[in-house]
Amino acid sequence: MRADLHTHSSASDGQHSPGQLVHLAAAQGIPVLALTDHDTLDGIPEALTAGSDCGIRVLPGVELSAKEYRNFHILAYGFQVHSENALSQLCGWMKQGRDERKFRILDFLREKGLELSLEEVEEFAGGGVIGRPHFARALIRRGYADSVQEVFDRWLDTPEYARIKRPKPDARTCIETIRASGGKAVLAHPYQLRMDSSALTDLTAQLAGYGLEGLECYYPKHSPEQTAFYLELARRYDLHPTGGSDFHGKAVKPDVCLTAYEQDLQWLEIL
Ligand code: AMP
Ligand code: ZN
Ligand code: FE
Ligand code: FE
Repeated sequence: MRADLHTHSSASDGQHSPGQLVHLAAAQGIPVLALTDHDTLDGIPEALTAGSDCGIRVLPGVELSAKEYRNFHILAYGFQVHSENALSQLCGWMKQGRDERKFRILDFLREKGLELSLEEVEEFAGGGVIGRPHFARALIRRGYADSVQEVFDRWLDTPEYARIKRPKPDARTCIETIRASGGKAVLAHPYQLRMDSSALTDLTAQLAGYGLEGLECYYPKHSPEQTAFYLELARRYDLHPTGGSDFHGKAVKPDVCLTAYEQDLQWLEIL
């Protein structure tokens, strides 16, 4: 079945509201869409309603950042959406961490001579969790840069930026929390870990031991060789291959479109 299992809305750092995102997917003929905002479940109810309105299948999801490595992200699907459960509580804790980080990012940018008010950043965040792309879009509007990528390259993904930390769970906690809430954990975009094949193999084995059930093999930036290697890793550790675009909208990631990848969805127990 064709599905895009990795997308972001304005509940985190995507451009479009959850409802708009689902309508975009429907207009593009995508039959199954998972909403996987960073560290929040807040967009899910609106996305589910929009899915019923326009007749596509919407799956609740989330993308958690684990602390061990840069861009070490774990996707979750199939969990119970409950304000009381362990996954919601973990998201609440991570949201607090982002709320506290925003002041440190503003100070960091000010040190670089970039003046930005909290209100400007919050305007782009629209009440959702605050992510670095919101700072990037506010800086672009101020005329400091021409693209989100330029902002990351010059300021927000530099060795100096790396000192600005936010609280994150370790990968084992992410996976165990997802499972405790009835969900299934999938390692996102393995290429972003920039590990050689032996290190990635060791990490995959370790995560499988914690209860990881899937590996995001299909992803716009994976080369055919990378996809083949990830499929082999998935086979070796009995993980389900998944695929998703990581769509954030043109204003955030201009080169990424919604994409339905052919994949098995039965293991997610949604059909
Ligand atoms: P945050 O979770 O708020 O620290 O920001 C993570 C977001 O920033 C993710 O959506 C990434 O897509 C984006 N991001 C991280 N690093 C880069 C980069 N080097 N270039 C462009 N976007 C990035
Ligand atoms: Zn993002
Ligand atoms: Fe990610
Ligand atoms: Fe993502």
